Amino acid sequence: MQDKMTSRERVLAMLRREPVDRVPVISGSAMVAEYIKKSGGVFPDYHNDSEMMANAASLMHKDAGVDNIVVPFGMFVESIALGLEVKMGRIDIQPSVKGFFEKPEDVNPDPDKFLADPYVRATLEATELAKERFPDAAITPFLVGPVTLSGYLMGVQKLADLSCKSLHQEEVMDEIIEWFSRALEINKIYARACIEAGADVLYYSDASASPNLLIPDFYYQVGVPAEIELGEFIHKLGCPWELHICGDTTPIIEGMATTGADCLSVEQAVDMAEVVKIAGDVPVVGNVTPLLMIDGTEEQIREETRRGLDGGAKASKLGCGTPSPSSPERLKQWVKAVADWSAEHL
Ligand SMILES: [Zn+2]
Repeated sequence: MQDKMTSRERVLAMLRREPVDRVPVISGSAMVAEYIKKSGGVFPDYHNDSEMMANAASLMHKDAGVDNIVVPFGMFVESIALGLEVKMGRIDIQPSVKGFFEKPEDVNPDPDKFLADPYVRATLEATELAKERFPDAAITPFLVGPVTLSGYLMGVQKLADLSCKSLHQEEVMDEIIEWFSRALEINKIYARACIEAGADVLYYSDASASPNLLIPDFYYQVGVPAEIELGEFIHKLGCPWELHICGDTTPIIEGMATTGADCLSVEQAVDMAEVVKIAGDVPVVGNVTPLLMIDGTEEQIREETRRGLDGGAKASKLGCGTPSPSSPERLKQWVKAVADWSAEHL
């Protein structure tokens, strides 16, 4: 079948709930080692060198045929720019945030300082480069959602502890709101800069909002309002946004659907047909097992991709991002499986 839409048009149509020529294939984070090496990227420079970042990330579109280009590679950029300690990982391990602040007043939300950080700048410049070189792809900055960013600011353990106590204690609630408002300030500064750099859609992973870490009541009372506030800000700037939460999100998918996110991204732990039903009109994407891109057979990739689409997924996406050891050959098999399904069903 001849493609009638560009990748960018296809992704944006899906987000607007309009018809598509074929189901879009989109990626979350994509620090694919083979693409980094092939494009001349070196660890850890590709995390703060916009040229290396754009070149490696765009191979997901140019070579594998995925419809979006996602930068940066990890969920540490906001934190490192605020001065927190980050362990940079390796070419096959994502950077991880190690430090945290003692109190909310220690977080400095000065926009000029934040936007001057080399990792933030690299993301913004890579967004511009990708937009300039691949105007037909959906350029998608990968950002940390407000619940997760609050957790990085105060320490993830503290977030989990406070979430258990918060709902019945006004004092604890006040402290939580203080942390969340700092996170939202940073979220908004970064979102605006990404949109000004040419983002077509913002992809938020709010990994820590997962029922694996926080009780669903906490997500409903604190997480959902924070995501709504950020989402409204992004929509006012004319940009759509995607919300990903890790783990089995079945107990909170109803809440996720009320945030105003233009699509909801779920992991392989959920049953696609079940969450699609709960989400109603809001498109759901995801749940293809990421590890299949490392050692899956073509048949397994095909089967699982089709299962998600049969279940009502509006775009095919790997559950929690594209793993570093993914093979380009398997990524192409995945993209082909989506095209074949679309040819039969659309
Ligand atoms: Zn995830």
